[in-house]
Amino acid sequence: MENVSIYVHIPFCKIRCGYCDFNTYSGLMHLAEGYVDAVCREITSLKRSLGGKDIGKIKTLYFGGGTPSLLAPSLIDKIIRQLQKFSAFAEDIEITLEVNPGTVDREYLANIYDVGVNRLSIGVQSAHKKELEILDRLHGYEEAVRVVEFSRNSGFDNISLDFIYGLPNQYTKDWVESLKAAISLAPEHLSLYALSVEPGTPLEKKILASVYPMPDEDAAADMYEVAIEILDGAGYTHYEISNWAKRKRQEIFYSMHNLQYWRNLPYIGLGAGAHGFVSGYRTINESFPQRYINLFKDDVHMPFPQTAAIVDLVKIDNYREMQETMMMGLRLLEEGVSDLTFRNRFGLHIEEIFEKEITRLIEKGLVLWADNNNGDRSIKLTKFGYFLANQVFQEFV
Ligand code: SF4
Repeated sequence: MENVSIYVHIPFCKIRCGYCDFNTYSGLMHLAEGYVDAVCREITSLKRSLGGKDIGKIKTLYFGGGTPSLLAPSLIDKIIRQLQKFSAFAEDIEITLEVNPGTVDREYLANIYDVGVNRLSIGVQSAHKKELEILDRLHGYEEAVRVVEFSRNSGFDNISLDFIYGLPNQYTKDWVESLKAAISLAPEHLSLYALSVEPGTPLEKKILASVYPMPDEDAAADMYEVAIEILDGAGYTHYEISNWAKRKRQEIFYSMHNLQYWRNLPYIGLGAGAHGFVSGYRTINESFPQRYINLFKDDVHMPFPQTAAIVDLVKIDNYREMQETMMMGLRLLEEGVSDLTFRNRFGLHIEEIFEKEITRLIEKGLVLWADNNNGDRSIKLTKFGYFLANQVFQEFV
């Protein structure tokens, strides 16, 4: 059995940032303990439905949100211990916790390290006060710097920072300052996202009311290009469209958890609104925390991978799995989709399935075949394709 990854969704935030459309809620922290109990029951229910079947080792565990760093370390610990009963952890398991700098102190970070979290993903977003205000973030940049410092002191040697570009009123020079600030913190990993103005968010309302101008897509593309250059110069490997990893000696600090998604490999989603892909099914859980908690009040026995929380269960047929493998794998800029790996998984060469699509994309200069020097070759985005990646993915829908 192939190893599996686990995603745990923590749907609580102190306040909602104006640009956010994630499944998260403010003012519900009083539910935290009941919520963690429900996650533990979800794990028990999955364990029971496996009926002794081996699911493989857990190779990555990711606490995302929301703001997982609002949960007390003892509650994070409770979920980790419950998962250890579900399946053995790989020896080199990566356990990531998303951290919002406005929610943690030195003691919290030390405690979270002690319960086994070994990677932090810190939402810094910008080095500029005015940009953090546009985003309604809880914290200032100095606070984020302190969190990185405290994390290092607590023993964390695998830190990822998130930044956002393409903001209203943001100029390339502002973005370059944020990037340089990011590099000065020496993170092992960086995730850079273009701001997307989501319908119904407070940010969209402010833009429609002309409080802020609509972000300029061309300016955002320029900022992306600048980031590629600057991070390359700073020794970061651009391995996924929005992600960069640092190489230190023999090790390169990819997000192992996200690699599981991009390689279209199995992961179980736990918690309110979590998505999963396991045993050939895509799963989606009930979104509202209180309803999610209520669903685990009774013991319901269901076949794996179903649980009481699942509101959508879709069987992924072979062709759809191939499409998704192409769409997600092409996000990986160095790795792309290897023909050999594809053939080992599906019994066919990539071109036997997607010849027309690939020919069209090669003609447009968006993808290319690269030799892997072992008789294998991989299909990858070209540099031009980085900027039109959505057009590439559309070909495989
Ligand atoms: S902290 Fe993150 S999840 Fe919470 S509201 Fe802000 S952007 Fe959304």
